Amino acid sequence: MQEMADVVVIGAGVIGCSTAYHLARMGITDVLVLEMNQVGSGSSGKSASMLSLQFGTDELGTRMAKYSYARYMHFEEEVGVPIDFKKIGWVSLATQESAEHLRRSAELLQSLDIETEILSPEEIKRRYPEINTEDIVLGTWGPDDGTVDPHMIMWGYIRRAREIGVKLHQGVRATGIRVRHGQVEGVLTSEGFVATRTVVNAGGPWAIEIGKWVSVDIPIINAARSIVVTGPFPAIPSTWPFFEDLTAEWYFRPEGPGVLMGMGKTPTEELDIPFRLEVVDAMMDTAAHRVPVLMKAPFMTGWTGVRPLTADEQPILGPVPAVEGFILNCGWGGAGIIQAPIAGQLVAELISDGRASTLDISPFRIERFEGP
Ligand SMILES: Cc1cc2nc3c(=O)[nH]c(=O)nc-3n(C[C@H](O)[C@H](O)[C@H](O)COP(=O)(O)OP(=O)(O)OC[C@H]3O[C@@H](n4cnc5c(N)ncnc54)[C@H](O)[C@@H]3O)c2cc1C
Repeated sequence: MQEMADVVVIGAGVIGCSTAYHLARMGITDVLVLEMNQVGSGSSGKSASMLSLQFGTDELGTRMAKYSYARYMHFEEEVGVPIDFKKIGWVSLATQESAEHLRRSAELLQSLDIETEILSPEEIKRRYPEINTEDIVLGTWGPDDGTVDPHMIMWGYIRRAREIGVKLHQGVRATGIRVRHGQVEGVLTSEGFVATRTVVNAGGPWAIEIGKWVSVDIPIINAARSIVVTGPFPAIPSTWPFFEDLTAEWYFRPEGPGVLMGMGKTPTEELDIPFRLEVVDAMMDTAAHRVPVLMKAPFMTGWTGVRPLTADEQPILGPVPAVEGFILNCGWGGAGIIQAPIAGQLVAELISDGRASTLDISPFRIERFEGP
């Protein structure tokens, strides 16, 4: 492996791949990406594969999603790889408990010109008869959301980056960061030392551990979420959109001839979590209330991933005051797939020009978590 690089990116999930690509696109091509496993083996390979504009609950996050969505619509032209986007749409369902939140979120989306329609329970029932709307107060419909292939996003970014000069090493673990007089000097790896003055922490759920090497406490809350996929299940039409039950924090959408469901927000220190069958029962109990017919769906497969959340649901971006050259691009929570284009763009601008110009990233700096 090479002995020095201008920039070392730790982690080849969607955020690390996007960062490497955007750096190369801005002319910083002496970049080394270290991935302890394989591209996409972390959270990015375990998502529900949704590009969602409807996910946004705050203005900044929604503006970023809008930027990223627009970039994805031209991904193939820009990067040369198709991402298999299917515009299936997104329905949010709210009971009394979550109705006010959904109404405010819809108003925000509409104010930002994101097409969002308010649906009455009667309209939901008319469109989707299998949904139990007894306790539903309102719903929303966003036609623009859809599914993608996150692996194609990652391979697209990393392939193009490599064509321009970036080096990717899979199966190489970063094990430490050497700092001298408050400045990064290099990265220790399972294959030796790489001298560099700039390290990007794109470690997803592992970002906390990477921070510890330089005594930086990264306030990510890792939370486990499981996905269950059923076998063929014609009772749910394959033309249906993504449905999110806000109060139950449970969702489902068609997946091939079957159905994909997701649920869970359990804090975890374990980051490689095996799938446990108990999850299927918990998921089915929730499904039984909202879409009773789903009880009959045959379980086929499932997995558990980790979402690197933060207390204010915003990512952690930018430099760290005490360690010159240590740059954070982490804490993307449950929205890292949709937000990857802006995540890479902002951090590459910061490294290339000393500041991010697409938008002000000061609200995302780690200092916001410091106590009084
Ligand atoms: C069940 C589930 C469903 C989700 N659904 C969606 C969705 O529909 N839409 C959406 O936008 N987002 C979704 N998300 C969130 C999204 O998956 C994450 O926000 C995103 O994948 C984070 O990407 P990342 O690159 O930061 O982390 P990761 O993909 O985890 O990448 C980090 C990489 O760093 C590597 N690494 C760590 N430490 C080291 C080291 N020391 N040396 C070398 N390599 C290292 C890891 O192996 C890993 O590959 C979902 C997440 C989960 C768990």
